[in-house]
Amino acid sequence: MRETVPCTLQGTRTCAVMNMHSCDRCPCSKGEGKNDELIEDVKLYCDLLPEEGLYSLFDTDQCQLCKGENKGKRSSYALLDMAHAGNARLSKKRSIFQKRPIGLLAPVQFALCSKCRLKLLFLEYIPILTTVLFTALSLFFVSNEDQRRAMSSTSIGFALPLLIVLGCIVVGYVAGRIVKWLFTRKWNNDMYINALEHPFVVKMMEKGWFPLFDSKKSKVVFTKKRIDVGLGTATEDAYQVLDNTEQI
Ligand SMILES: [Zn+2]
Repeated sequence: MRETVPCTLQGTRTCAVMNMHSCDRCPCSKGEGKNDELIEDVKLYCDLLPEEGLYSLFDTDQCQLCKGENKGKRSSYALLDMAHAGNARLSKKRSIFQKRPIGLLAPVQFALCSKCRLKLLFLEYIPILTTVLFTALSLFFVSNEDQRRAMSSTSIGFALPLLIVLGCIVVGYVAGRIVKWLFTRKWNNDMYINALEHPFVVKMMEKGWFPLFDSKKSKVVFTKKRIDVGLGTATEDAYQVLDNTEQI
């Protein structure tokens, strides 16, 4: 059994912001003598985030992807992973697929209403749905006995069914992209379809943050329950501690 030593950071602002809930899973309690570095890292993390704090996006009943005054009621969360190079000590390339060195990670969790969730799901899947629909219709068409007979009487009869199916796949996909584009334009007035355009994320990017999965239109992940452990997941209270105490 590991000997339990009272953690020197217990009850401090660093502990509150790290939000690990239990010393068992916290790097501070491993007795590695690196608490000074951890304190430095947490301070850097807080300095690099916009003043409103990440909690302002999830610690609310109002949807944060809705635009305007009348925001929908939160029913789930949309998660966007953001990364930052951090400082020279933290900054590392962890895999060959990684384009930029990463030192810090921030789970950006937006409170999300059911309407925004449905719209985002629709936009994500509509090109796939129309492609599948057109492909199914074309297969149904070319498998019909009468059509097969009619096609075989033409000069390219042997290749015609294949050409029809391939053509329908392309048409289905293009139709889906057009529908997506039209609805994106329509819904863009009511909500942040691209989470990277959200004012909070824009402020983060001005401070050097970037989407972990590099993309211009970063995709969010939907979750019923938000992440509640680790840096970036603490509620406002933790930051009040940070403001109102001299503790480390
Ligand atoms: Zn919404």
